[in-house]
Amino acid sequence: MDCIFCKIIEGSIPSKKVFENERIIAFHDIQPAAPVHILIIPKKHIPTMNDVAAEDDALVAEIFTVARQIAKEQGIDETGYRLVNNCNSEGGQVVYHLHIHLLGGKKLSTLVG
Ligand code: IMP
Repeated sequence: MDCIFCKIIEGSIPSKKVFENERIIAFHDIQPAAPVHILIIPKKHIPTMNDVAAEDDALVAEIFTVARQIAKEQGIDETGYRLVNNCNSEGGQVVYHLHIHLLGGKKLSTLVG
């Protein structure tokens, strides 16, 4: 499959990993938009938020659990952070493998679209 994040999961493309279990990995974004910019992704290839099925409910919940844990480890849980999912082209999605951006470490600007 020609998916850059699947290649990161299988290890053929290197990444700066901060978390991994059987279902999820998290790694530093290659072009950070904030001092902390980590991507949290399921190992299952789900292209977009629209493709999340009812059977993925526990997986999506676990992604948020992992995000909270990483925010704490990065020391930004108290100062604050943002979780972002971009869906499809007008949502700004570039990589079509579901991912949540964890952003923090500075005062983030208001979302204006
Ligand atoms: P999207 O716009 O929500 O799809 O975000 C995709 C993100 O993946 C962007 O922030 C990119 O900088 C990031 N990205 C693309 N390729 C790599 C990579 O090889 N390693 C880490 N991050 C990547």
